[in-house]
Amino acid sequence: MTSFARLLTLLVLLLASLPGLAAAPPAGKPLTVYFFDVGQGDAALVVSPTGKTVLIDGGPPEAREHLARRLRALVKEPLDLVILTHPHLDHLGGLTQALKAVGAKRFMDPGFDHPSDAYKELLDFVGGTVGQVMNPEPNPKAPQTLLTIGLGEGASLTVLWPRVPQEPFLDNTRSDPNSNSIVAKLTYGTTAFLFTGDAEPETEAALLQKRIDFSSTVLKVAHHGGRHSSTAAFLAAVNPKAAVISCGAGNDYGHPTLEALERLEVAGAHVFRTDQDGEVVAVSDGTTVTVRPERGAAPRVVPGGVKPGPVALGPIVPTPQRSRASTRGGGTTPPERPADGTLTDARGGAVEQRFVSLKGSKVFHREDCATLKRSKSERTVYPSRSAAMRERRPAEDCHP
Ligand SMILES: [Zn+2]
Ligand SMILES: [Zn+2]
Repeated sequence: MTSFARLLTLLVLLLASLPGLAAAPPAGKPLTVYFFDVGQGDAALVVSPTGKTVLIDGGPPEAREHLARRLRALVKEPLDLVILTHPHLDHLGGLTQALKAVGAKRFMDPGFDHPSDAYKELLDFVGGTVGQVMNPEPNPKAPQTLLTIGLGEGASLTVLWPRVPQEPFLDNTRSDPNSNSIVAKLTYGTTAFLFTGDAEPETEAALLQKRIDFSSTVLKVAHHGGRHSSTAAFLAAVNPKAAVISCGAGNDYGHPTLEALERLEVAGAHVFRTDQDGEVVAVSDGTTVTVRPERGAAPRVVPGGVKPGPVALGPIVPTPQRSRASTRGGGTTPPERPADGTLTDARGGAVEQRFVSLKGSKVFHREDCATLKRSKSERTVYPSRSAAMRERRPAEDCHP
């Protein structure tokens, strides 16, 4: 058993017993999601019917005091799970303070290597303070299923993306860190919440090709209501009754955009915005969701509208990747990679592969990894994998 499989088993055991995937009818105990008012960024807390807590993102640095205060008020024990959807500052800036305030038992992020000091510092802090650190890998014994984490009373959180190592991270997208955000569906009875991080249209398109039930009562709108995400096709599949946009008043990005707001309106979703409504609290009784904005509008009760049952509607197979040859410099197809990790040239002969590490990073990459191309940091080149392994560990994006 790999150490990851062990971790996964432990996680599922510790968080809850999964009472089969067709959830038992909920006993009416509430499941609550707090969408915190953290300005331009994301931070949401899930409190399950049995009191399990999951923090999804930690807002921007400016909101760290506010987030820590809210968590101290709402969480009495260390968080059961912290999910960082992706390594951008508006999602991780308040996490260290949050962890100092209430602690956490487990931490999950996409494992997408990102050369920023803030992300490296967070990983160092998490490594020293949180018991388990993991990436959302599908169960190696059932790679065509979705990773599902039980939260008690039939509530569960299912990770839809990313699916490394079954599928590579999306690359050459508008923003690869955004595109590989953890996308997760929280289900309880006939209600569901979809968390999308800063997913891009490429993420939505890749997911739509999979046999997944996306339908959700409440959608945490991708990328703060940016114009490219929340495509009409994706919104049609999710069919949200309510949508929450987490953004700062008068932010520099023009979030939320008119385009995204219009598509949400066409999709029939009632939109809540943290910049106008303050904190938005959504309470599910397993049948309906009551959404309460902190200020302004009146609470709104929406029907769950989600079929209970598994989120995966069949085997989850890798999405065929669009051809990227034309978007890569030089216009050549990257060489195929045989199982042993060596590269071969067009005639199948072995090519010497070197490995590269960025200054200050604990990981090493394949020399052709896209992460390296984006970074201007100083680099160390290793002539062989074994030489690199002596000093660093393999990066999660290119799996050298
Ligand atoms: Zn963001
Ligand atoms: Zn982002």
